[in-house]
Amino acid sequence: MTEVFQKLKKIVTEKYISDSIYVRHAYSRNVNPVLQGVPDIVIRPKDAQEISEILKIANEENIPIVPRGGGCCEWGGSIVENDTGIILDMKRMNNVINLDQDNLVVTVGAGIAWGALNNYLSQFGLYTGCLGPGSGLTASVGGGISHHSVGAGGCAKYGACTNQLVSLEVVLPTGDIIETGSQANKFSKVPFNRFGNGPDLAGLFCGDNGIYGVKTQVSLKVFPRPPFAAYKTFVLPRKDTEAASQIMMEIRRKGIDVFDTIFIPQLVVVLGAQEGMFPLWKQLKRKRGILFYSIEANSEIELNERVKQLDEIFLSKKTEELGPEISDGNFAKWQYENPWHLYHNLWGIQPACEPFTAECFTPLNTLPELVADTMAWENECKEDMQKIGELTGNRIVMSSAGPVALIDGNNVEYTVGFNTSHSYHEGTTHEIIDELNLKLWKSLLIRTYKQGVQYYMCGSVPSKLMVEIGAYSQEYNNLLKSIKKTLDPNFILSRGKFNLTGEME
Ligand SMILES: Cc1cc2nc3c(=O)[nH]c(=O)nc-3n(C[C@H](O)[C@H](O)[C@H](O)COP(=O)(O)OP(=O)(O)OC[C@H]3O[C@@H](n4cnc5c(N)ncnc54)[C@H](O)[C@@H]3O)c2cc1C
Repeated sequence: MTEVFQKLKKIVTEKYISDSIYVRHAYSRNVNPVLQGVPDIVIRPKDAQEISEILKIANEENIPIVPRGGGCCEWGGSIVENDTGIILDMKRMNNVINLDQDNLVVTVGAGIAWGALNNYLSQFGLYTGCLGPGSGLTASVGGGISHHSVGAGGCAKYGACTNQLVSLEVVLPTGDIIETGSQANKFSKVPFNRFGNGPDLAGLFCGDNGIYGVKTQVSLKVFPRPPFAAYKTFVLPRKDTEAASQIMMEIRRKGIDVFDTIFIPQLVVVLGAQEGMFPLWKQLKRKRGILFYSIEANSEIELNERVKQLDEIFLSKKTEELGPEISDGNFAKWQYENPWHLYHNLWGIQPACEPFTAECFTPLNTLPELVADTMAWENECKEDMQKIGELTGNRIVMSSAGPVALIDGNNVEYTVGFNTSHSYHEGTTHEIIDELNLKLWKSLLIRTYKQGVQYYMCGSVPSKLMVEIGAYSQEYNNLLKSIKKTLDPNFILSRGKFNLTGEME
């Protein structure tokens, strides 16, 4: 490895490469309590050219390499496997390269965070529409495109962030550099459209979880932020999931382009108030599930008309409207003013516990059944959950469905998971806790997968499970493999995800 280190150092200079034990460990985890992979080297390139040279060396030396943006993947997507390989940290490539205000397209380095990009755009009265994932204060645009991320705000109106994609600059695993969309025509001066010039090759890299190429530049559509907005929060009746699904379906049937509509189930409201993470819910008389909407408009008349329509839908389902201020419990206002904050608070909702999630996309009308099945799963797993509780004194809490965000079409992002304890507890490491956590997590992922949901952030664990449980048809799996082989003959990039190891291929 020393020789490889020296070769790589020549490319990026000493300042941007490390094999120190501290740095390697700092890059060894994502945000779950069990998965860890300590890389041999961490490298921080400045552009596509450097990445191309790095990949060529990785191919010569047969060393796996994993791109990493904000490192916020929940499922081990941006760590190495088997404690070997190179982490390619994309965060130096975090600049705005061009804002084309005539054509409403921004081109950025793939390592820029969604929060930083939108902060920049706000000076021009613009935003990215879908504001990326809930982790967007840290998570990168490249990571979001690699996951089809949604969640920080705007996804009911604009859909997942890949909907906004115009073109990509990608370094292929062999080191070749390509551009997609309008930029596939080398005579095109500026990125302006994703489709055309042949097949949509950008689509290959959207949601690829970093297996087909390294995104280095991303061009996205940007939108003028409408000057008027309204946001209201409603307490749901007892059967909150059913009511929330019906309301969301009605919004779609009426064609109202809400910016966001998010359902937060009762358990999250109760815990959020109790543990102090969401103090605004403390004073709610009835701590039930809540549903909120935010809507934007270009004039006050347009806004009032839409608010009237939305209120009619919400109130017809026996909901109770909360007051307009955040202190009245108006979560919608808090979320609209603080995009990227909801999930951060949610994840700290139980002190000393850490989340395992199983976020997926599903059609709205499947939601009540999916929630019921998840609750049945929880009952079946009580014994394992109790064992963890007995060792740590922490109760495992299942968030049976929450939050659930309306995304484009009649689909929702269904967030389900459990908050659990780390195996290190009061000076002792309980290996059994890691085993139980992993067992519970995989069984939840498989259970939901078999309900027909669609995972979008596949990371290391779910990408393999999908193959192992036979969710893909043989033909589909073969196609994934043969594309991988063509683009990455040595399986250098993110080796192992989707069980694409290069062995026996
Ligand atoms: C508090 C919190 C809230 C979250 N909320 C949401 C949410 O609302 N919605 C959601 O979708 N997800 C959410 N996530 C999960 C995750 O943060 C997002 O999916 C995010 O988009 C990942 O971006 P990242 O830059 O951190 O990616 P990383 O974790 O660095 O990487 C993710 C994957 O993309 C690959 N990758 C990264 N950059 C590149 C690149 N330039 N080229 C090729 N491959 C690359 C990596 O190899 C990896 O497979 C949340 C996570 C946390 C911790």
